[in-house]
Amino acid sequence: MSQDPRTALVVFSGGQDSTACLAWALARYSHVETIGFDYGQRHKVELDCRGRIRTKLAQAFPEWAPRLGEDHLLDLGLLGQISDTALTESRAIEMQANGLPNTFVPGRNLLFLNFAAALAYRRGASVLVGGMCETDYSGYPDCRDNTLKALQVAISLGLDSPMTIETPLMWLTKAQTWALSETLGGQALNDLIIEHTHTCYLGDRSQRHAWGYGCGHCPACELRREGYAQYQHDKGNA
Ligand code: ZN
Repeated sequence: MSQDPRTALVVFSGGQDSTACLAWALARYSHVETIGFDYGQRHKVELDCRGRIRTKLAQAFPEWAPRLGEDHLLDLGLLGQISDTALTESRAIEMQANGLPNTFVPGRNLLFLNFAAALAYRRGASVLVGGMCETDYSGYPDCRDNTLKALQVAISLGLDSPMTIETPLMWLTKAQTWALSETLGGQALNDLIIEHTHTCYLGDRSQRHAWGYGCGHCPACELRREGYAQYQHDKGNA
């Protein structure tokens, strides 16, 4: 694959999706940096995974190592002041009347991408990469393709500098995301994702399943488990 000379900034949480996005960016762009947000998540397990995943990626894929640049962790603790959700308070995760899980922080992705764009501008990056997805998404309206296209225009105008928002997972199912990471980095990448990424809403890393660590019952674990099972099933039929 020919290399894109632009610098990309990947919104990288340490989960499966953003790790697939990071690999996708490393396979394309000559320079890739990562950004994460600390907004008082109830469990910091995911954030703790970030550095380890970056290190493991550089070790397992020497061709990607020179492209992997700095990591940035922004403190967005102020989100705690405007949210009252299961992610930041000790409440059970449940579906609300509007069909969104109560883990939803309104407009969270809009805020993340605006902060990412401001940092990207200062770092000379003109591509933002995020794992937003319409296919399996939990109803988050700020993950929609049209939302992100509108945001790309607003950010590019507001910075007076082109800023592309790439969302490689937008139309993929969870099974197809596993297949994408296999295409990018083979079984080695999927093994790394299974072992080192974190998805579980409850922050459980005491139970290891075929698809990785997690409680196995929360909505995030269910999505990951079912996606992995479908991916294995699809592979068996290929
Ligand atoms: Zn879980």
